[in-house]
Amino acid sequence: MMRCAPLLSVLLVSLAVQQVSAQKKTQLAPRPNAPVAKQEILKLTGNKEAELSKDVQILWLYGPEDHRGGEHDYIRIKELFVPMLKTVPRVTVDEAFRFPSQAQFDKADVLIQFLHMPDLTAEQLQMYKSFVERGGGVVSIHESCIMRPAKRAGQYAECIGCSWKGNKESKWSKFDHSYPLFLNTKHPAFVGLPRLIRFNDESYWNLITRDNVEAIGAIAPQSLESKVSFSDVLKSEDARSHAFWAYQSGKGRVFGTTTGHYTYTYFDPMYRLLLMRGLAWTLNEDPAPFMPLVFQGITNDKGLVGTTDSMLDYKNRKR
Ligand SMILES: [Zn+2]
Repeated sequence: MMRCAPLLSVLLVSLAVQQVSAQKKTQLAPRPNAPVAKQEILKLTGNKEAELSKDVQILWLYGPEDHRGGEHDYIRIKELFVPMLKTVPRVTVDEAFRFPSQAQFDKADVLIQFLHMPDLTAEQLQMYKSFVERGGGVVSIHESCIMRPAKRAGQYAECIGCSWKGNKESKWSKFDHSYPLFLNTKHPAFVGLPRLIRFNDESYWNLITRDNVEAIGAIAPQSLESKVSFSDVLKSEDARSHAFWAYQSGKGRVFGTTTGHYTYTYFDPMYRLLLMRGLAWTLNEDPAPFMPLVFQGITNDKGLVGTTDSMLDYKNRKR
């Protein structure tokens, strides 16, 4: 028995470690939020009929898909959102693959980008920066803030406010409900929304950040719920501050997020609500005309909104 004891201890310890890692893996497994009653979401979207104050040309920028199906599905997400956006009165939508032409920039009021940004030339960076400075809006989603090599990332940050500093300095991680998304509800894009929302997704932090970037969403441990204000949450060492940001350059407004890894996240009404709020803010418009998209195609006959499908069986395309 005496000789067996150390072996037994090793076995028990290794079993315990396996259990802990299995639990951790289970917690961070891709898993959409449970669908939510439409009535609950309506409390946040409102239900008023409203039209945009001007005609709006949206330019959707996408690129070749670079992960397994269900993650970074740039083409699939473009195909999901473009037809929906076209249902909003006064909205027209154009599409660009990898990078827009100058003629496309000239016509666009707002650029929505979800792709891995190609290594832009000096001329392309100047086109982008000029677009924002003359008053173009940008909604930048997830990997779109990453441009490699990182040597021109500083110039890219001049366009959208934040960009990937390099694999040594910038960080990424999946998060689950134990790391909620805390929102700055004092910012006009998020006013009236809950101070924290839970998703199972991924975010980045420690990015290159221009001086006039305002952090408006942070992923942080559940324990910070006791903090009174969003700025107190941001001060915590454990806060991952670049979950959502707002940036203004010249006359243009940028709404950026490093979340949006999983395709099922785009079928989550709360996530759609955040994106549509951000889109409206970049356009300096009331978000009401975009609110039907929070429910479109994801509301069942029981009045529940969302999906239970993790969507990982999708075969993505290089194009
Ligand atoms: Zn990702």
